[in-house]
Amino acid sequence: MNSLKRRSFLRKATTAAAGVAAGTAAFTSCARSDEQGAPSVRSTRTYKWKMVTTWPPHFPVLGVGADHLAAWIEEMSEGRIQIQVYGGGELIPPLEGFDAVSQGVAEMGHGAAYYWAGKAPATQFFAAVPFGMNAQQMNAWIYAGGGQALWDELYAPFNLVPMPVGNTGVQMGGWFNREINSIDDLQGLKMRMPGLGGKVIAKAGGSAILSAGGEIYTNLERGVIDATEWIGPYHDQLMGFHKAAKYYYYPGWHEPGTVLELIVNKSAFESLTPDLQAIVRTAAARSNLWMASELESQNNAALKELVAQHNVQLRAFPDEVLDRLRGYADEVVDEIVSVDPMSKKVFSSFDAFRKDVGEWANLSEKMYYAKLSS
Ligand code: CA
Repeated sequence: MNSLKRRSFLRKATTAAAGVAAGTAAFTSCARSDEQGAPSVRSTRTYKWKMVTTWPPHFPVLGVGADHLAAWIEEMSEGRIQIQVYGGGELIPPLEGFDAVSQGVAEMGHGAAYYWAGKAPATQFFAAVPFGMNAQQMNAWIYAGGGQALWDELYAPFNLVPMPVGNTGVQMGGWFNREINSIDDLQGLKMRMPGLGGKVIAKAGGSAILSAGGEIYTNLERGVIDATEWIGPYHDQLMGFHKAAKYYYYPGWHEPGTVLELIVNKSAFESLTPDLQAIVRTAAARSNLWMASELESQNNAALKELVAQHNVQLRAFPDEVLDRLRGYADEVVDEIVSVDPMSKKVFSSFDAFRKDVGEWANLSEKMYYAKLSS
């Protein structure tokens, strides 16, 4: 930068800083006048809410994340919002949270958006897209790239406010009892897989089963399903899948950065004062970071234990299989966006953002990891 440009840049920065300061002052005086004129802004009303979850009660990381979220909201609100958390099946069946929160049976629901594909197909783009974006890219799209506004638009007709509340990072490809050496090995395979990935498995000749977390192990052990995916080494080990399947495949092409979701009944959310609404959103953002950090910090130790102590056979999907799955994934998305206008709107934002951050990743993270491993 030459000195003239630098002076110009600094002048603009100074002007912008002054603007921020003026804005802060305006906000402060506004807050003060609200306090004087409308004491209800800092309401002392206590809300007793229910949160339903798709997870078994106090399920590690996911259910515990819901427990933490409720505790953080109560702590930050100084007890003005108290939330009773229900595991899947305790108040309602695990995969019926969308309707329950929409109708106000519970004020909050904790799960993942692809469980609601039957309510609106576009929900799936806010959980996981096969060969889509990773955790930090999903967060960038939702928080800073227009994703949240589209998510709000999609859920508003259902009287719901959605927000991210966790992320799994790149998942594993799943547990199998036979090797997957070609795409033909997926023929006739009954595999537990939710969302768009499940539709890709169907295109490859398998059948995708959607089941809640608490039912998967039994289904795999009894042969109701032949294979399952879940999350990653840490959580999969807790689920015990290594006792029912031998081969553990990577990468999780179907879920490269799955967003976990909090839904809030919109009428209930809007009945909260702005400070309480901010507390809910802030606690959700904290939970998003907490959950991703928990899984990331534990995955490798669990993977080593699975291989060394439980004799799990680690396998990479062959390139040919991944290439074919990627082709099917494009077909699956094309079919959805061609018949559902909201899916088209959401996916066009998602896809443009993916291309944009992908270019940046190609010369930042991808280059960095290439050097790290060389
Ligand atoms: Ca999964």
